[in-house]
Amino acid sequence: MDILNSTLKDAVHALRTKQYTSCELAQTCLDTIKKFDKQLHVFLTVNEENVLKEAKTADSLLAKGVEKPLLGIPIALKDLYSTENLLTTAGSKIIDNYVPAYDATVVGKYKKAGAIIIGKTNEDAWGHGSSGENSDYEPTRNPYDTSRVPGGSSSGSAVAVATGMCMASTGTDTGSSVRLPAAYCNLVGIKPTYGRVSRYGIIPMASSFDTIGHMTKTVYDNAYLYEITAGYDPKDATSVDIPVPKYTSFVGKDIKGIKIGIPKEYVQAPGMQKEVRKLTENAIKDLESLGAIIKEVSLPHTDVAMACYYILVPSEISSNLARFDGVRFGHLRDQFGAEAKRRIMLGTHALSAGYYDAFYKKAAQVRTLIKQDFENVFQDTDALVMPSSPTVPFKLGEKVSDPLSMYLSDIFVCPVNIAGIPGLSIPCGFADHLPVGLQIVGPQFSEERLYQIAYAYEQIHEWYREIPSLLKDKI
Ligand code: GLN
Repeated sequence: MDILNSTLKDAVHALRTKQYTSCELAQTCLDTIKKFDKQLHVFLTVNEENVLKEAKTADSLLAKGVEKPLLGIPIALKDLYSTENLLTTAGSKIIDNYVPAYDATVVGKYKKAGAIIIGKTNEDAWGHGSSGENSDYEPTRNPYDTSRVPGGSSSGSAVAVATGMCMASTGTDTGSSVRLPAAYCNLVGIKPTYGRVSRYGIIPMASSFDTIGHMTKTVYDNAYLYEITAGYDPKDATSVDIPVPKYTSFVGKDIKGIKIGIPKEYVQAPGMQKEVRKLTENAIKDLESLGAIIKEVSLPHTDVAMACYYILVPSEISSNLARFDGVRFGHLRDQFGAEAKRRIMLGTHALSAGYYDAFYKKAAQVRTLIKQDFENVFQDTDALVMPSSPTVPFKLGEKVSDPLSMYLSDIFVCPVNIAGIPGLSIPCGFADHLPVGLQIVGPQFSEERLYQIAYAYEQIHEWYREIPSLLKDKI
């Protein structure tokens, strides 16, 4: 079974047409985990006992011709999705013994669709980070070059898909955490419109920024999963009751006449690597050759976006992490890692009497300006295109002692969370054998357009077929 070269769509088809069984597929994923997890640190928990049992059940349903969208498909979840009776640590030592009594809404939807939860993936503790190195456990490594980071905070979820340890995965994206690891691991990653997918049962980071998302090899696979998880949930007061389009039906439509903006502030951004710039320019030319209309646009408040993010997000974090005081559950606060402590202190300071107006309130006002920048541009532009990250995946350890330079890896992705709009990262080539991602951004609830553009591009370049060198000939 060539699982590494197989997409989610291929696997769904193969199970239905009896080319292999769910037991065989799940066993192949488990074998791959056994072979590479010690080196790559992808999973915090492997659901080994249940996986084969569930695969067996799926096989008997498949034999009866039952059709569910994910029947018998192994999926991995970031370790901050609450899973009934399955350890959920959020990558932290504080709750290293927390076994939830219920499933997050998204997990429930996956199970209902027939998916098999193969395990819980490693991440920066609580979602704080861009590299995976803030995990309270071992940092995950990039399978395209194991001396480099896979991107964070959903580090394990990205590597699990890139290495064939599962067929798709979930992450969460508060400022970068689906799109950056997707870009660094040659995957497609969606950051939804705020409120489009339920956050119920997700351990929160910064509640007004948090979104859940999926990582897959292809655009079609991503749209397919999004159809399953998007939608209103009465258990999440911020989820929105707007009908969910059939995203996969937009895949394959041409993009002639679609107006794509290139924000000039992003083109001029400091620290963008030459190779990243080149690959982005190539992708823009490709989109133009497909009939898109390319134009320059301006997002004038881009230069203050990171400052705004790093006031508002730590403020919400300091409030959300206050519940982990060791009284009701979890360990004492001295178990928090360095990054969590840094954010609790920053946030507490920004919210404290005497500083609130100067920091929190000002940043909240700036947030509105950033949101308006996007709204203005979208008056006569359908979507924006820019790199997902200014650099290729960096070396482990390169930025750990310099949090500011780590924060700047997110310069192109964080503004999207500030504005609550959707962003999709897709592979756009390799620089020195390292994956580079392209981000496509649109107005609220325009995910179908993002998939449409992304799929059109993917038809010219099937970068997803380039599997990590570590795995070539080994599986
Ligand atoms: N890298 C960003 C941060 O550390 C975003 C993380 C995320 O999206 N969870 O805040």
